[in-house]
Amino acid sequence: MGKALIIGAGGVGRVVAHKCAQNPDVFEEILIASRTKEKCDQLKKELDGGKTKVHTAKVDADNTEELISLINDFKPGIVINVALPYQDLTIMDACLATGTDYLDTANYEPPEIPKFEYKWQWAYKERYEKAGITAILGCGFDPGVTGVFTAYAQKHYFDEIHYIDILDCNAGDHGYPFATNFNPEINIREITAPGLYWENGEWIETKPLEIKRTYNFPEIGNMDIYLLHHEEIESLAKNIKGVKRIRFWMTFSQKYLTHLQVLQNVGMTSIEPIEFEGKLIQPLKFLKAVLPDPATLGPKTKGKTNIGCIFRGVKDGKPRDYYVYNVCDHQECYREVGSQAVSYTAGVPAMIGAMMVLTGKWKKPGVFNVEELDPDPFMDALNKNGLPWKESFTPDILD
Ligand code: NDP
Repeated sequence: MGKALIIGAGGVGRVVAHKCAQNPDVFEEILIASRTKEKCDQLKKELDGGKTKVHTAKVDADNTEELISLINDFKPGIVINVALPYQDLTIMDACLATGTDYLDTANYEPPEIPKFEYKWQWAYKERYEKAGITAILGCGFDPGVTGVFTAYAQKHYFDEIHYIDILDCNAGDHGYPFATNFNPEINIREITAPGLYWENGEWIETKPLEIKRTYNFPEIGNMDIYLLHHEEIESLAKNIKGVKRIRFWMTFSQKYLTHLQVLQNVGMTSIEPIEFEGKLIQPLKFLKAVLPDPATLGPKTKGKTNIGCIFRGVKDGKPRDYYVYNVCDHQECYREVGSQAVSYTAGVPAMIGAMMVLTGKWKKPGVFNVEELDPDPFMDALNKNGLPWKESFTPDILD
């Protein structure tokens, strides 16, 4: 049926490529393109012999002209951007220039400013509408499935959603004293930033990791969770009418936080360039280079993730609670695609989002966050593609 260009061959790119190849009726051909071509070639080696035809290429995704010529040569139906958030705008520009649909899993963040916001990508709305092409923003798990869960709750269970708590639990253990489960630079920038949540039409800022609770996660048990700012809060606050509060929570172990505190205290998490042996370097980039590559954590990581949303609101004049979540096992993911569950839970939804566009279910001109689109076919595809979800109408509630 279609062709997809996958940009990025890291932890998430690996999952997207494998999952596209598991759906050859939709993805007849894929081109995996990234900065390091060897990583793309390795994936091709693993996937060759299946029904999906696999190609590889080297590309610098910071260079729009290079991207345009790659897209013009391959003529994909969609570009799946699983490089880094810094490349979102150059790739969106190339899609606009070539009239190609676009999908990503993380919103744009200028490399020199640690602040993610949708404003830069939402600014493409009219140009995408005029060009008659689709952009799907933030289609991993969180953001991504969390938005689909919200649209599903809104469509089937609520007249009005008042409170949303998004809970991201990783109870996996990789055996290292300190490592991040996805790109360290992105991960550490996210965690060391002030916390933010949305309440009664306003953003409330907290100190980094200031608000802590404990939650009893289904299939995992009690875990400490911390309030963080996360990008889907911004789009959900805009798209879910009547919502009063949206918060995002993530689990961290005490060991992880102690390491992070030390690294922060000595200046290793800073993005301010410093001079070292005659060269300007960003301490955080250097830290990334010495930490374990997240792509190598797969074989070592044991345990489960649980990511979901708790909704409180009203239906037919009565209060209602609803919790929908997915539990994923690190080792099962690794056996299937060679990646741990953090990459798996981001890569599967990216493939499904691309499938929704290529099959016409999410194909309309403009720039969209996932909660603006029909959740039903996506929820069905999650069950069929390795991320089955469960629901409860009597969840534990966070104060
Ligand atoms: P990795 O660092 O493992 O992979 C990034 C890939 O992009 C690498 O292959 C890298 O190449 C490539 N890349 C980086 N810069 C360029 C460039 N200028 N040109 C071409 N290729 C480039 O990251 P992850 O796979 O963990 O994450 C990928 C994306 O997914 C990130 O944006 C991340 O924020 C997002 N994400 C989203 C989640 C969600 O649930 N929504 C969850 C987890 C991640 P090289 O191999 O040479 O370094």
